[in-house]
Amino acid sequence: MTSSDEQTGERSLILILGDQLSRNIAALKRADPDRDIVLMAEVAEEAGYVQHHKKKIAFLFSAMRHFATELKEDGWQVHYVRLDDPDNSGSLTGEIDRLRAAHPVARVVVTEPGEYRLKSALQDWAEASDVPLEMLQDSRFLCSHERFGEWAEGRKQLRMEYFYREMRRETGLLMDGDEPEGGKWNFDHENRKPAEDGLTLPEPPQTSPDEITEEVLDLVESQFGDHFGTLRPFWFAVTREDALASLERFAAEALPHFGDYQDAMLEGERFLYHSVLSHYINAGLLEPLEVCRRVERAYYEGDAPLNAAEGFIRQIIGWREYVRGIYWRNMPGYTEQNFLEATRPLPGFYWTADTDMACVAAAVSQTRDEAYAHHIQRLMVTGNFAMLAGIDPHQVHEWYLAVYADAYEWVEAPNVIGMSQYADGGLLGSKPYAASGNYINKMSDHCAGCRYSVTKKTGEDACPFNPLYWDFLVRNRDKLRNNPRLKRAYSTWDRMPEPRQEEYLDSARKVLDQL
Ligand SMILES: Cc1cc2nc3c(=O)[nH]c(=O)nc-3n(C[C@H](O)[C@H](O)[C@H](O)COP(=O)(O)OP(=O)(O)OC[C@H]3O[C@@H](n4cnc5c(N)ncnc54)[C@H](O)[C@@H]3O)c2cc1C
Ligand code: SF4
Repeated sequence: MTSSDEQTGERSLILILGDQLSRNIAALKRADPDRDIVLMAEVAEEAGYVQHHKKKIAFLFSAMRHFATELKEDGWQVHYVRLDDPDNSGSLTGEIDRLRAAHPVARVVVTEPGEYRLKSALQDWAEASDVPLEMLQDSRFLCSHERFGEWAEGRKQLRMEYFYREMRRETGLLMDGDEPEGGKWNFDHENRKPAEDGLTLPEPPQTSPDEITEEVLDLVESQFGDHFGTLRPFWFAVTREDALASLERFAAEALPHFGDYQDAMLEGERFLYHSVLSHYINAGLLEPLEVCRRVERAYYEGDAPLNAAEGFIRQIIGWREYVRGIYWRNMPGYTEQNFLEATRPLPGFYWTADTDMACVAAAVSQTRDEAYAHHIQRLMVTGNFAMLAGIDPHQVHEWYLAVYADAYEWVEAPNVIGMSQYADGGLLGSKPYAASGNYINKMSDHCAGCRYSVTKKTGEDACPFNPLYWDFLVRNRDKLRNNPRLKRAYSTWDRMPEPRQEEYLDSARKVLDQL
């Protein structure tokens, strides 16, 4: 043994990232509390690479501080670096170097980061470093990169539905032997009702900030006061225990109607029957599989119908795992894609909510207040508008990455670049999610209070989504004309009298000129 081995005693430095707040995280599972040192650090580089929402930063810092306290209580040696520590180097690799200068280690162990950017930074650091870096697979995900690669290999189209069926078989979730529970894989035709009047809407539990959270809120106010978003009132759970309570509340109160009203929107109602669990799952406070098992149990115990349980489980073991697979298979470069060559800058109202479009104002203002909007607001309101208006998808991507508490590039980018902006040219979705005001009117009550008229197709008071929808199709005809799912729309356009077409294009131009 060399003197340096004696000094390090084979000790490992275990780096735990801000979205790896789980006692089951691979790097901790392999570690020894009596020998290894855990490093957790709040660093400017991670908090500032986009202008993250204040609530998102506060959630992560507070959850990190709580998790570090729990690990210490469990007997781990935790080195926790606060953002305002005067010696804080500002980067994770800087903090690794600082810690190992004081406490020599034989290796650095980390669970694979969720973002390509950070994974590369750590790998670059390791190449230049004299200690090895071990990067372990993130076992919280059900589908490893290799497994996704096996599934994707040789397929012409990577459709989520087929991937999802394999995940159902592999997890056994809602399976009756080899067959799906209820005889069908997907019950979506029973879902997606518009919200009716008189629904009783549950609210996610509101956790009061404790001393640790209050301290973090003050820090965020002073250091990130210029970032987007309302900081207080702050009600997110920041511990696993409280996140589990949110899961229980969802299973009892919202899940039974989750499927029915999954796509509905109501003025002033921010959560409807959604779980509001994504930021807890993505940060590690809840495990995706345990969430699905809890929902499956609700079905078997008769507390939730099959369309709700199946629809929810599909979002997690289907969509969530699938988008992660798409991200890693296509990075680097995925976030730069711009199939439709859209170049318009993101309009200012994405930050201020200052627009007469009632649906957009509602989605942006609740995003500002809660760092949350549900799927249909993200996809069919803010996402749809950006795509129809030809906004640069990279700017759209950076907006989504900044403003939601659950946003990490591995999940946000495929949803934005792929699903919502069609900037990947159809790798993820079989057609652009483009819709006129009619869809929003059907699924929400926003139009009733809007200064625009959803039934007017052109002219000054017409709902801007209406002319923009046609302008989008016409503008991108060369790229979209062969999509079988758009054939009907193009033939409707072609049958329209030319003066009518001109009215649409003229109205669209006026909307775009005002952005
Ligand atoms: C443009 C756009 C951007 C998005 N950005 C993000 C993001 O940054 N982070 C993120 O976690 N989700 C993102 N999504 C997916 C989805 O909108 C959110 O997961 C969901 O709104 C979170 O709210 P919830 O927990 O109440 O979800 P619920 O409606 O209750 O759904 C249950 C769970 O399913 C998972 N889920 C549902 N849909 C998806 C999906 N398309 N992709 C991945 N997981 C899904 C989430 O874990 C969610 O908690 C985005 C969707 C779109 C259209
Ligand atoms: S009229 Fe158009 S802009 Fe106004 S709320 Fe309806 S869809 Fe949105």
